[in-house]
Amino acid sequence: MTTGQTTATRPRVVIVGSGFGGLFAAQRLRKAPVDITLVAKTTHHLFQPLLYQVATGILSQGEIAPATREILNSQKNTRVVLGEVTDIDLAARTVTSTVLGRTAVHPYDELIVAAGAGQSYFGNDHFAEHAPGMKSIDDALELRGRIFGAFELAELATDPAEIDRLLTFVVVGAGPTGVEMAGQIAELARRTLHRDFTRIDPSSARVILLDAADQVLPPFGDLGKKAHTRLNEIGIEVQLGAMVTDVDAEGIVVKDADGQERRIRAATKIWAAGVQASPLGRQLGEQSGAAVDRAGRITVQSDLTLPGHPEVHVVGDMISLNRLPGVAQVAIQGGRFAADAITARLAGRPTAPEFHYHDKGSMATISRFSAVAQVGKLKLSGFLAWMMWLVVHLAYIVGFRSRVTTVLHWMVSFLGRGRSERAATQQQVYGRLALEELGPDFEASKTGGRRRIGDRVDMTGRRSA
Ligand SMILES: Cc1cc2nc3c(=O)[nH]c(=O)nc-3n(C[C@H](O)[C@H](O)[C@H](O)COP(=O)(O)OP(=O)(O)OC[C@H]3O[C@@H](n4cnc5c(N)ncnc54)[C@H](O)[C@@H]3O)c2cc1C
Repeated sequence: MTTGQTTATRPRVVIVGSGFGGLFAAQRLRKAPVDITLVAKTTHHLFQPLLYQVATGILSQGEIAPATREILNSQKNTRVVLGEVTDIDLAARTVTSTVLGRTAVHPYDELIVAAGAGQSYFGNDHFAEHAPGMKSIDDALELRGRIFGAFELAELATDPAEIDRLLTFVVVGAGPTGVEMAGQIAELARRTLHRDFTRIDPSSARVILLDAADQVLPPFGDLGKKAHTRLNEIGIEVQLGAMVTDVDAEGIVVKDADGQERRIRAATKIWAAGVQASPLGRQLGEQSGAAVDRAGRITVQSDLTLPGHPEVHVVGDMISLNRLPGVAQVAIQGGRFAADAITARLAGRPTAPEFHYHDKGSMATISRFSAVAQVGKLKLSGFLAWMMWLVVHLAYIVGFRSRVTTVLHWMVSFLGRGRSERAATQQQVYGRLALEELGPDFEASKTGGRRRIGDRVDMTGRRSA
């Protein structure tokens, strides 16, 4: 076990997470007289809103996931540490992280927790086997392999019913992520792949977007109806009031509003519904007495701290406060607010008593040149909204290099018909399920322990021939 910092003479700030909340908090503290340790379980800062473009071959993962270490390398008061935080001890004021059997303890004077949220299957975690979510680079690359792979298998199939199953794509969840994903699969099938196959017609692919709610993009009001119309225009079947009751390799079972169940035969299922906050929220709730809701979000005080712990700030997707949405701006503004509170407290100045979220608007793309956007009272749809979406997303992609290559890839896909990032490996497609299958054996092998592969025991960690 190592101790994160032992010789600190300046106040120690520990930040958990390198997402929007964590990264923007760290950057805000750039000039503060503090020593920052940013601990995250990935080495990158992930721009989640564009994951669907990695999944559909428009962008590479590098463009939306620059190395956190590189982003912060000129920030001299900050140390970046890889590790999954397993324990936060509010009484001892320590954060414990672990990676590959190496455990580190990071003492803090001020703590910012921005560990975000994962996918929720609403208590049906077994759905994940056949309907991956979209929360990480791994998820996006697995989906890319599954989506492009479905067309490959359809080209090989001879049974028309099997070809139909392989060319049916179901996206569950008609929020922004589901709408964007469905739109891009449809464009991929109809614009990009339509000339690439000889036996099948990719443009005949069936793309179904379904949701238990009765509207597409519920928070967008009337714009949701416009999005619905546009989705239909590009050939997407929107099925509302449809609740998923089962998912298996063959397809998906849904129960309609009239209580009738039906099966949709589909090889590719994508889960874009529901989030569950980081389990660290529950841990913090148990120690501080703060309430935690069903989605795992912790109720923070109006200044984003925990009751009785003004030194602990929680921001972003993990929090429950005034029904704030789980969007990037809530995390960014929360991270900056927490950083400012720390700077003020250390300088002996009063801190702002309340976090006020400034809603800069929301937007979702449907297809190329078509989006919906709501900024205050202004509601836009079509090309103008799409241009707005483009500019805003470009502005928030971190790093000049990533912006340049993103623009080039967008030109390839939106002005042309191509997709620059179609490569997918078997490991990407099958790795997640294979690791789950190996379970504790694989966990042990990661730390150099015994590794069982099938019936063989491999002491070297290598697969024998
Ligand atoms: C597919 C998708 C599309 C989206 N589209 C939009 C959009 O168009 N517009 C919008 O505003 N928002 C969008 N969002 C939501 C937005 O991305 C989130 O609201 C935002 O990322 C929340 O920021 P955060 O800092 O709270 O969490 P995240 O950005 O999720 O960051 C969490 C960080 O914590 C780390 N972490 C988690 N657990 C641990 C642990 N135990 N130990 C160490 N590190 C840990 C993670 O590795 C990560 O670095 C989208 C989300 C998804 C998944």
